[in-house]
Amino acid sequence: MTSLRIAEIFGPTIQGEGALIGEPTVFVRAGGCDYRCSWCDSMHAVDSANRHDWAVMTPEEVMGEVRRLSGGKPLTVSISGGNPAIQDFAPVIAYGKTEGYRFACETQGSVSKPWFGDLDTLVLSPKPPSSGERVDWKAFDLCLEAAKGCGQTVIKIVIFDDKDYAWAKAAAERHPGLPLYLQPGNPEVDPSLPVDLNQATDRLLWLIEKVTGDRWFTPRVLPQLHVLVWGNKRGV
Ligand code: SF4
Repeated sequence: MTSLRIAEIFGPTIQGEGALIGEPTVFVRAGGCDYRCSWCDSMHAVDSANRHDWAVMTPEEVMGEVRRLSGGKPLTVSISGGNPAIQDFAPVIAYGKTEGYRFACETQGSVSKPWFGDLDTLVLSPKPPSSGERVDWKAFDLCLEAAKGCGQTVIKIVIFDDKDYAWAKAAAERHPGLPLYLQPGNPEVDPSLPVDLNQATDRLLWLIEKVTGDRWFTPRVLPQLHVLVWGNKRGV
């Protein structure tokens, strides 16, 4: 029987980023990740030192909690992490779809899974140089291959500095057919500290001016909506 390491399930709230921004969503955050990004805002779902806080759940138990949170009314379920692609979410998706739930997944694109093709939305979020990680583009392309059949596949890149920005432009050129979303990075990830909204809007303005100044009209530039509303609070 499939068992899944789950760091948290929460919602309904709204999706704060990317192609589904504003969409009512329940989040299923998987525990465990093959990356260690320098600015990760989800280390509670990444670092195996937190493993004792993760639940081991069957697909039925995951969907039972989603159903409880959504009052049994189908909505979008976002499978995030950590890197959810290191686990088998196929049974959760299959089970939820029979009840009308829609599924999105966000992953960095380092591991491909056949169940990507069952998703409504796959968000591939390759990490720029400031993360300290290095993208394996062969693995990334295998994710795109696995996603054939998925409703929509998009790329989302977080930008912290000029180097990230230049890297994002080159990354976008590798996949010109995919919708591209850019967002400024949030350097303050401690949930106990407030977010400086002036700095957050300054970073957004900086990114907007970079893109428009370059006459680069491919990406959509978005804020992290949940950070503007709730700061670094977890579970929202
Ligand atoms: S890939 Fe995502 S979850 Fe994993 S360490 Fe990087 S930011 Fe955190």
